[in-house]
Amino acid sequence: MCGIVGYIGKNQALPFLLDGLKRLEYRGYDSSGICLKNNSGFYLAKKPGRISELESQIDQILAKGNIGIAHTRWATHGAPNEINSHPHVDCKGSIAIVHNGIIENYNSLKELLKGEGHIFVSDTDSEVVAHLVEKFYEGDLEVAVKKSLKLIEGAYALAVLDKTSEKIVVTRKSSPLVLGIGVGEIFVASDVPAMLSKTKRVIYLDDNEVAVLTKDGYAVKNINGFVVDKEIYEVAMDVEQIEKKGFKYFMLKEIFEQPEAIENTLRGRIKDGKIRLSVNFNPREINRIIITACGTSWYSGLIGKYLIEKLSGISVEVDYASEFRYRNPIVRQDDLIIVISQSGETADTLAALEEAKKKGAKTLGIINVVGSTIAREVDSGIYLHAGPEIGVASTKAFTCQVTALTLFALYLKQERGDLPSDVILEIENIPQKIKEILKKSEEIRELAKIFKDAKNFLYLGRNLNFPVALEGALKLKEISYIHAEGYPAAEMKHGPIALVDKHMPVVFICPQDAVYSKIISNMQEIKAREGNVIAVINKEDPKIRDLANYVIKVPETIDELSPIINVVPLQLLAYHIADLKGLNVDKPRNLAKSVTVE
Ligand code: GLU
Repeated sequence: MCGIVGYIGKNQALPFLLDGLKRLEYRGYDSSGICLKNNSGFYLAKKPGRISELESQIDQILAKGNIGIAHTRWATHGAPNEINSHPHVDCKGSIAIVHNGIIENYNSLKELLKGEGHIFVSDTDSEVVAHLVEKFYEGDLEVAVKKSLKLIEGAYALAVLDKTSEKIVVTRKSSPLVLGIGVGEIFVASDVPAMLSKTKRVIYLDDNEVAVLTKDGYAVKNINGFVVDKEIYEVAMDVEQIEKKGFKYFMLKEIFEQPEAIENTLRGRIKDGKIRLSVNFNPREINRIIITACGTSWYSGLIGKYLIEKLSGISVEVDYASEFRYRNPIVRQDDLIIVISQSGETADTLAALEEAKKKGAKTLGIINVVGSTIAREVDSGIYLHAGPEIGVASTKAFTCQVTALTLFALYLKQERGDLPSDVILEIENIPQKIKEILKKSEEIRELAKIFKDAKNFLYLGRNLNFPVALEGALKLKEISYIHAEGYPAAEMKHGPIALVDKHMPVVFICPQDAVYSKIISNMQEIKAREGNVIAVINKEDPKIRDLANYVIKVPETIDELSPIINVVPLQLLAYHIADLKGLNVDKPRNLAKSVTVE
């Protein structure tokens, strides 16, 4: 997520810090800030919005110094406003930090530090780091940072300054950080593009390593204080390749980011077999849930319906936001309305939320962009923490939405007194299982070569995998412009089967679940009409090998979690078909990333 930049050396820090922040803009952000260290102390500036707004507020006379840190924030805890922007400082204003990631145990640390008299000013999780370093500071910044790290749980890249010493201390865990080695100067950044104009010689920090940077050089140590001999790499890639992490399109990068994104959605929300979510309503008082959303988010809502009904026994309806808002829906005070939107700005979903609020229902948002309009309007929310999604066709936001809905279904089950569940154990294995599927990207590309000129596609699934069929079809439509329909497999014989002939590819999503034998019969019906069957399976079965023309095998999981697994090969199939057709995968015609009009 977002970015850190730092500088120490013979030159003024400001030009590099601003340039570096701008070069990290592609990672997405909502606010930015800098801290420079000079003879009289710190010069601090922060601002929500574009980096140009930060730049115009900086006092060029005061913003002097050879040491500095800077940050672009993608808010996870606390709205994207000036106070919550980084850098954060301690009570005395003599320690400054920038942080990317999530401090999972910030609540308990904050309570502990408040109890010791520390004064907090922001709503962020990150501010605890400034106060922890203050707590442990006895003249040596490196020692204080290391002691702080022992208490911090979560993901972080950190850069820390203090007013008295001429150094920057940086460290990381599950969040990237790179050092750039110049002549008489050292650069720090979350990613190489920020420093490519200055140096191509870089060191990639590993988890739990702490680097102390001075004007004369750097020392990298592991958490136990032993010096690590780090290799210096010469960067060969150009900036654009690096921004997409070497992937051809953002969409492909985002498909490959799903294991990490799902880990971030889960982070800190399962502890000792219990689901930890904070909501402003009593789950026991909910009688009915209505999920409302648009597009891909609507499909995740449909999966949410199956999950919530199955796990918690509460009845759920799913409604298109554009319909809900205008049909004068019956909404009661003991209804919970769940709104789902990646951007948190979707116009129809926002209007549906307003309608629900007007009618007195409780509301819950499942949103990726922190501080967005819908996120601000709902009573309670679950942020995805999926990181910025730039490709117009949603991928990682979808799987993270389904993950968040699964957590919420489990939470309802728990609060109604009915845990444990095997879903809790298995959900933490999902990121690893997705990594297994991602290894099949090239195999799926071969399949895409066979079908790229098809004119129509059918996607069929049942039960929890019916919405996956809808999502698979939508992905293909959106980016390859091939007409595709998703259907509940059994429903196909009530109409679409008339379309089936030897030219029709039919994708079956058929894990061995409770409706497996039923879907095999549906496959037979398609085969009898010479349809071209592509089957997504999770267990070998000679019957399927017999019936299907092509098979994609995914790892086994329990029924409740199979949608998250099964959608991944469908995302890859759509991506490869569109790419093979030479289309601009990230910017499909006629579509916008955030639909802010009716
Ligand atoms: N969790 C921190 C915040 O919300 C840092 C987010 C980021 O990575 O920018 O301020």
